[in-house]
Amino acid sequence: MNPELSKSISNHPLPHREGEGWVSLLSPEQISLWHQLLSAAHNIVLTCHRGPDGDAIGSTTALASWLRRRYPETDVRIIAPTIFPDFLKWIPGADDILVYENHENEVRPIVEAADLVILCDHGELSRMWTLGDVVRDHPAPRILIDHHLNPEPGIAALIVSHPNLSSTCEVLLRIMLELDPPPALPVREGVVSNEDKSLLPSNDSAPSLTGRAGGESSFLTHDEAVSLYTGMMTDTGAFTYASSRPEIFELISILLQYGIDKDKIYRNIFFTYSPNRMKLMGYMLYVKLDVWKKAHTSIMTLTNAERRRFNVLNGDTEGLVNLPLQILGMKLSVFLREDTEHPCIRVSLRSVDDFPCNEMAAEFFGGGGHKNAAGGEVWGTMDDAIALVKKAVQKFMPQLKAK
Ligand code: 5GP
Ligand code: MN
Repeated sequence: MNPELSKSISNHPLPHREGEGWVSLLSPEQISLWHQLLSAAHNIVLTCHRGPDGDAIGSTTALASWLRRRYPETDVRIIAPTIFPDFLKWIPGADDILVYENHENEVRPIVEAADLVILCDHGELSRMWTLGDVVRDHPAPRILIDHHLNPEPGIAALIVSHPNLSSTCEVLLRIMLELDPPPALPVREGVVSNEDKSLLPSNDSAPSLTGRAGGESSFLTHDEAVSLYTGMMTDTGAFTYASSRPEIFELISILLQYGIDKDKIYRNIFFTYSPNRMKLMGYMLYVKLDVWKKAHTSIMTLTNAERRRFNVLNGDTEGLVNLPLQILGMKLSVFLREDTEHPCIRVSLRSVDDFPCNEMAAEFFGGGGHKNAAGGEVWGTMDDAIALVKKAVQKFMPQLKAK
């Protein structure tokens, strides 16, 4: 290897250095609590919020694999409160996820046998559908790994929650780096061009950040890197929001060392529409989009009758809420859809710049989320929900009209 290249790689500062945004996420007390909880556990359950998204599936699958390699004697299971969309099923390890919804009697005993529960990508047990009650009633200690504002007090013995970070996967990768710090970044032989994929490490010879041989003893496996990248990518709309901190790209640069094909991951997530979904999108934009020009707000609604008409499947509505933000000057997009099981309307909010969707969701829709992406619900009819959106928009008019 070129000695200069080797020198520059080994001089590359580790990502969890102090300053420049790389403050430690874990205090020494939290690190020792982590080790204490993990070494006492024999049956670990990892879980996430209802309606799991790429970050929820990415973080739980990456963590399950990483834990299984470090604690081979421990049984590690992933339980999703509800089903998740087909476009996430290719994520490595997603096959092994147990779904609580519709399998309550089989899955509940697994939670009840757990001696440690790790909650990923949400900070409120109520976001786990009825699985939240099972977890609340179960005495096992809990760890929370998350990036949502205001985690429920007492939700876990160890809370690692960083709302300023892009995704739970980003929080997770950073705590993995802190818990099992690799002494150096992986050393690549030569410069690998996109065209010369043969030089990239294969899954079982993933580069080792610890200098050990790849595979089982590697800091990350290829598949863990794929899961982590997927969560970071999906929670930032493929790095189009919540992703301007330089550290996120340093982390991605580490993940790329494991030979992940980020372009394929993008296609696996975003280019998976069914013909029906394309037609639904056309219908929503042509027929259902209502633009409230003065408020720089747009609103779309979807009823269950329309779901049936377009044969809308689970996941087919994903991403529709983002489309109106492509209109020049739009600040807020509201998407209301009838819940398929409960007499309520699900609310999705998306914004650009500083408009606080999470504040609107908390004040008007009993929900929360992030500044640019939040949600909640209205227990009533679609008309009730539209009336409430009008009230919310009135209240937030000064921010919506601000330049
Ligand atoms: P979506 O619009 O995709 O359903 O949700 C966007 C984001 O809003 C989610 O990632 C989550 O952070 C937040 N969110 C959605 N629904 C709720 C809710 O009912 N309660 C809270 N606290 N947050 C929600
Ligand atoms: Mn997330």
